[in-house]
Amino acid sequence: MKIIKKIIIFLVVFLISSSVGCGGTAPDDGAVSQNTSSNPSSAETESQAPVCEHDFEITVLTEPLPLKDGEQKKVCRLCNETVTEPIPATKTLKVLAVGNSFSVDGMEYLWHIATDAGCENVILGNLYIGGCSLDMHWSNIKSDAAKYIYYKNTDGKWTETENTPISHAIADEDWDFVTLQQVSAKSGLPQSYGNAENVISHIASELPNARFFWQMTWAYQHDAYTSNFKAYDRDQLKMYKAIVDTFKTEIQPNENIDGVIPAGTAIQNLRTTYIGDTLTRDGHHLSLDFGRFTASFAWYAALTGGDVEAVDWYPEKYPKIGEDLKFVQSSVKDAVKNPFEITEQK
Ligand SMILES: [Zn+2]
Repeated sequence: MKIIKKIIIFLVVFLISSSVGCGGTAPDDGAVSQNTSSNPSSAETESQAPVCEHDFEITVLTEPLPLKDGEQKKVCRLCNETVTEPIPATKTLKVLAVGNSFSVDGMEYLWHIATDAGCENVILGNLYIGGCSLDMHWSNIKSDAAKYIYYKNTDGKWTETENTPISHAIADEDWDFVTLQQVSAKSGLPQSYGNAENVISHIASELPNARFFWQMTWAYQHDAYTSNFKAYDRDQLKMYKAIVDTFKTEIQPNENIDGVIPAGTAIQNLRTTYIGDTLTRDGHHLSLDFGRFTASFAWYAALTGGDVEAVDWYPEKYPKIGEDLKFVQSSVKDAVKNPFEITEQK
């Protein structure tokens, strides 16, 4: 029995001592130090593995978002110990839109929604020219044209500065995100995206730490009177599909593009509810209540990674949104999950 007991004690000591080295439960920072020089001849110290002074190579697996942890993998160059650990959510949300009236629609309520969900330091900028296309943005970048209205929101209220060049807005804040979109009429026409690469590359060179998201815009209301609807045979689903397909071929492959804001899919999802095809104010610009709120909600969900059910803010003057908030939440949740297809809402 005594021999068995000794073997057990030896095994326990061996297991404890070997667990301190690499591949065991030692802390990652290599701070564990053991004095192994005092008695090198003892059986106990001979069984200890040398402690690795970990030298980790870090690979980011997923970038953190304002309300969603990222993930990184650390591999020790010396002992190969591998650790996967979260990168804390960033909390801040600073978004510059290089846009037009459709980014105005999409950003209208973003400040309040993001702040309600727990984002800190929410700063929104929107470079606006009505109907501004990618070609026009590129032309304005090249000439540094002071042609934009620069909308800004740092406290829940929008301010505006006329005659602003893109260069001013880029330098104005340490932007986390830049968003872009094509003008709605051409959003499903791939031949109109020739300067997308130029615009994106230029801004990426000015803001190397920003992440680039593309707003997939919405198809027009079925009875929209604008002649721009003719390019899609006045067919809402045809326009929706063209916008999705064009994003996939012209924008998604761009290495600077980090994500999509599926505003158009969220709108299309909400159109399948009893609210129906009533989400615009003129056939193509979003209604001030459900339309803009749903698009803003899609911006929030895509940019922050936040939970849609965590938000219960809605504009007070539109109490109907409060009554039907669950439809907006589910439409946006499904759009983020399946950005390229319509999900029927029950
Ligand atoms: Zn190591």
